[in-house]
Amino acid sequence: MRTLLLSDIHANYPALKAVLADADGEFERAWVLGDTVGYGADPSDCIAAVRDLDATVISGNHELAAIGRISAEDFNPVAREAIEWTANALDDDEREYLQSLPPKQVVDRFTLVHGSPRDPVWEYLGTGPAAVENLEHFQTQACAVGHSHVPFLVRVTADGVAGQVKHSPGQRISLGDDRLYLNPGSVGQPRDRDPRASYALLDPDAWEVEFRRVEYDLALAQTRIREAGLPEFLAERLSIGV
Ligand code: ZN
Repeated sequence: MRTLLLSDIHANYPALKAVLADADGEFERAWVLGDTVGYGADPSDCIAAVRDLDATVISGNHELAAIGRISAEDFNPVAREAIEWTANALDDDEREYLQSLPPKQVVDRFTLVHGSPRDPVWEYLGTGPAAVENLEHFQTQACAVGHSHVPFLVRVTADGVAGQVKHSPGQRISLGDDRLYLNPGSVGQPRDRDPRASYALLDPDAWEVEFRRVEYDLALAQTRIREAGLPEFLAERLSIGV
């Protein structure tokens, strides 16, 4: 089944809308890798859209903080302010929904986590030693992660070296035989200096992935953040993709 891979939507509804329009008709199921809320001004619209997808969803650190399961004290001041705003914006039903999300799920050949298999809440995965160390913490061939807001495909080869394949939007990349980590990047707050919304389409039968970037109504997302009284930096960073 062709799979839509989303992560770190971060309450940016204009970005999510653009991604769903772009991917329309090209997937049969969706996986959402955490941080659907936090930073942005439209958590309720984003939660509703994700629920509509009937997606496999896991929790990220921003969900866990918004429902009080981890302390907002562990976040930087800007993130903390956004978490407190988000906690107030959620209704009981949304809070209950976020509480129901597991930190880890296994689907077919993939383990889904937000951060890393050994620390789904906090650890950032990339090309560093953590990619090798985490191999013993999941059983499937592949692991889908979010959290860093940077799209990547990291293969861990037989000699234990983690190598990164740079994503190339619009091109289908074979996932190969090695164990690997896949990050679709962030829908709502990309941090690789490309402000366009980031996502991926996975074809598990062909064992291929395609990374995509989509323009969206960034000015609207910024206006919503400013109107909500969220920190100005959260609006500014969307323009530069950091
Ligand atoms: Zn995030």
